[in-house]
Amino acid sequence: MSTKDYLEKDYYKSLGVAKTATQDEIKKSYRKLARKYHPDTNKGDTEAEEKFKEISEAYDVLSDDKRRKEYDEIRSHGGSFRGGGGPQGFDLNDLFGQPQQGGTGERLGDLFGGLFGRGSGTARGTSSTTRRPRRGQDVESEVTLSFTEALKGITVPLRLSSEAPCATCRGTGAKAGTLPRVCPYCDGTGQETKNMGGFGFAEPCHHCHGRGMVVDDPCPTCHGSGRAVGHRTIQARIPAGVKDGQTIRLKGKGAPGENSGPAGDLLVKLKVTAHPVFGRDGDNLTVHVPVTFPEAALGAEIFVPVHGAPPVKMRIPEGTPNGRVLRVRGKGAPRRDGTRGDLLVTLEVQVPQKLSDSEREALKRFADSHRGDELRDTLVEQAKEG
Ligand SMILES: [Zn+2]
Ligand SMILES: [Zn+2]
Repeated sequence: MSTKDYLEKDYYKSLGVAKTATQDEIKKSYRKLARKYHPDTNKGDTEAEEKFKEISEAYDVLSDDKRRKEYDEIRSHGGSFRGGGGPQGFDLNDLFGQPQQGGTGERLGDLFGGLFGRGSGTARGTSSTTRRPRRGQDVESEVTLSFTEALKGITVPLRLSSEAPCATCRGTGAKAGTLPRVCPYCDGTGQETKNMGGFGFAEPCHHCHGRGMVVDDPCPTCHGSGRAVGHRTIQARIPAGVKDGQTIRLKGKGAPGENSGPAGDLLVKLKVTAHPVFGRDGDNLTVHVPVTFPEAALGAEIFVPVHGAPPVKMRIPEGTPNGRVLRVRGKGAPRRDGTRGDLLVTLEVQVPQKLSDSEREALKRFADSHRGDELRDTLVEQAKEG
């Protein structure tokens, strides 16, 4: 709509309301007329179609307080400009200090912006008349890494389904040469209110399926949805040292923004598969290492496995109990600051399942000097005192 439209068209007359009409009156009247002249109920009637377009346009302006004010101002000044022999093509937008943006192009941008906002299924609380830059949605994805990949970091290709504007209709959903219009049933809100027992329940408008816009001649490519479901593959860099269950945020890899808004983020939830030897405890790696009773009793030097590196030698002190955890510094998972966690080695004293005759003899001699009764005596005494 241009200022020329504003000057020539009497929107109040189109809607059959007074210049002083309230928004409620305007809405009521529009609804009545929209039903009467709707193309669905007047198939092939071009006059009704024209009338419908006229009231849609009128309502579009008058239902928006800001635009209604503009319209009123232009109309009230318009007579004097023309009466004073104003030059043809004089741009009244100059009067209001606006660049050439009030026209059809800008307005359609608003409509399509709104169309996408709703189409993507998120409530952002914006109306179809705003044209603010909007940040794209965050997109969630999941990736499964091996234990080693999580430790070392990896770049994984992620195939994401994306909702891009349909290339044929550039997202309008309308066939070439036609345009979508504000849904007359919900006035572009995308919602209708159902009355149930005195309470109003909002649900998606059945006529426009919650989009707030209707398309009369659907684009043959997207069948009127305005969207093309495509797939895009992005390379997601997973940093070294990530943990199972962690979600990492890849900035700007989400859905593209609208109206030059920034893109959303990609949230990648990580699943890390178990390793046959190593476990994770925060930044530390864990490993269970079997030792013999003599090694634990006498002390020993043993080799313990290290993830992704040759084993390291570790000293077991004399008299080390079963389950003792020893720490090998700097052999754990990598941290962000470049340092590493530790390797926590749990010693498991093994009981031999088979003994040779000489081993049996040796153990019996050991048992003569280490009686189990003596070990348990303290326990029994303490129990008595209890
Ligand atoms: Zn609707
Ligand atoms: Zn299309």
